[in-house]
Parts: sequence; C-alpha cells; structure tokens
Amino acid sequence: MSRFLSEKLKTLEAYVPGEQPRDKKYIKLNTNESPYAPSKHTVESINNAEIENLKLYSDPTCKVLKEKIAENYGFKPENIYVGNGSDECLNFFFMAFCDENKKVAFPDITYGFYNVFAQLYGLDYEEIPLKDDFSVDYKDYVGINKNVVIANPNAPTGMTISLNQIEEIVSSNKDYVVVIDEAYVDFGGDSAINLVNKYDNLLVVRTFSKSYSLAGARLGFAIGHKDIIAELEMIKYSTNPYNINRLTQVAGISAMESNDYYMDNCKKIIKTREFTKTELEKLGFYVLESKANFIFAKHENISGLKIYEMLKEKGILVRHFTKEKIKDFNRITIGSYEEMNVFVETIKKIVKGEE
Ligand code: PMP
Repeated sequence: MSRFLSEKLKTLEAYVPGEQPRDKKYIKLNTNESPYAPSKHTVESINNAEIENLKLYSDPTCKVLKEKIAENYGFKPENIYVGNGSDECLNFFFMAFCDENKKVAFPDITYGFYNVFAQLYGLDYEEIPLKDDFSVDYKDYVGINKNVVIANPNAPTGMTISLNQIEEIVSSNKDYVVVIDEAYVDFGGDSAINLVNKYDNLLVVRTFSKSYSLAGARLGFAIGHKDIIAELEMIKYSTNPYNINRLTQVAGISAMESNDYYMDNCKKIIKTREFTKTELEKLGFYVLESKANFIFAKHENISGLKIYEMLKEKGILVRHFTKEKIKDFNRITIGSYEEMNVFVETIKKIVKGEE
C-alpha cells in the first residue's frame, strides 16, 4: 500500500471477479456468461458500424438505445438509465441514495459487489442472513425503513422471491429505494418491471451480459421513476458522461431488435439447466431450485473446494466461494447442452473416483 491512499479506503476489500484464464482452453462455467454468440443481426450491426467514427465521442444521451429498450419493455425513455454494465447502475444507486440517514440492507449471501459498494462509500450497511434453506425471507425487509437491494433470482443461489413479496417490500418502505437486481430474470423469474408504474421507489436493474450474450460489451440498464432515473443521470454526468461507447450502443440497439433470438437461447439454457440438475441429483448432489443460468450445488461427501479443483484440473471451471456458509457449494454456469454433457460425464468420474 502506498502512503498516499486515502484513509477511508485503507480497509476496502475490492470485488474479486471470476477467473478469466488465458493459460489453456477451459469449459468456462464460472462467470454466468451465455454459451451462445450474439445474434447474426448484432454481429452484422457491429461489423457495419462506422469504425472511423470512433474518433468522435459516443452519444452521451444514448438516445436510440434508450428508445429501443423503452419500446421493448413498454416504458418511456425517461424511465431508462443505461449503464456501463449493470454494475455501474448498482454503483450509482449506492452513490446517489445511500448515506448515514438512508441506510441500506441486503442479504448476507448475494452478489458480492453490494457489500463492496457499501464499503466504498463508507456506509453503515446491514447484511440480513438468508433462511437455512438459502432463500431470502422477504419479511425481514418489510417496513425495514432502509434502502434495500435484492437480486431476484438471487446469486449465487438462483432462488427467487415472488412479485407479491417484492410488492410488500416496496410498498412498506415508501421513503426508501428498493432495488431489484434482475440480472438473471430471463431464465425463468418473474420480472418486477410492471410495478415501476405503481411505485416511485422501485428501481429494477437489468443487464445485457447474460441473456443477451453481451458480457464483453458492458451494458446494463435500470428502469424506474423518471426522477430516480434523472438522479442516476446526474451522477453519470458528474463522473463519466460517455459511459456507453459507440460499439456497445450499436450492440445494445441490435440486441433489442433480435429479442426473439435471445429469448429462444434462454429457453435452451433453462432446458439444459433442468437436465444438469437432474443428473447431479442422481450423483448425490443437493441442488438448490434455480431460476437463473447457473445452479448452486453441493455433494453429500466431497467438499466444494475439492470438486472445484478436480474440475479445473480436468479443464472445467466453476465458481467456488470461500465464505463459511456456502463453502460446500459450487456455482455452475449453464453452458451449451454439449458442454454440460461433458461436465456431467466428468463429474461422474470424479464422484466414482472418490467412492
Ligand atoms: N447483478 C448480479 C446479481 C450479477 O451476478 C452480476 C454479474 N456478475 C451483475 C449484477 C453485474 O453484471 P454486469 O455488470 O455484467 O451487467
């Protein structure tokens, strides 16, 4: 650590992204990316983009992109904020709405970045334990009088709460912002976006990284009341006005235009998820009920770390977390059917070898 670092950052524990190895080719089931390429239309649109215009800044208002997203989800552009990944939307939520008077709460087991943002802004945050079955107890958040962030489906569990439960949380915390992070909702969850018309304190955060096969483009968005969106815009214009580069704007627009292609991919992933879950259960795994493009599974005898290490040795990457409560599990991204077949066959060998 240099002697220059601000006092307030000295204890910050940064977010640790999943491995992106370059040493050899893995079957990569560790960062919840899509196994499917972007649509032909998306690829062509990027190929046909006027590359020479990269000398000019991108449109800071993201006008066309916002219009396309708004049209796709039945909102007005003023209800849409577009961010450099949904991580940026989440970052700006913490920056804009949380402080010593407006505290924030989220589950103890959830997307690891919430805790990092809360630390980054020196917030007094509350991490609420999941129930023993790893589900979020929505009652913990009803009338909590704090800002709330809930990933639905949650990560890394894949488990969901219902729209009625979300509505109760939102309606009972009227003076606070409730963020529903729907990074994985296209894989079988129920979206809360329609509640945005009813409640001005609900912010739904989405991403193009998973269901729209654009993790590398860095594009996310938030849907909310126009006043909340305007405040996110204010933060953007105070940090990085050109947050969405030209090629990513083209990618996002064309992705909205081939929505059906991406939603079909989600259906394939859901089918492959159920196949993988069934196969793992036959092999003595306990697999949580997932509505995401990953499953969270532990074996009755073999430790989570051992499974992670043995899979890696055999060229398959999954995500293992060291947190005590979940260290027996691995989070396994659902790849293509072919990849998951290799995964299942490899796991079979590992389980047999250990018996
Ligand atoms: N929310 C959740 C729950 C996630 O798991 C992730 C991806 N790791 C994100 C948000 C951020 O995704 P991105 O910044 O790629 O949109």
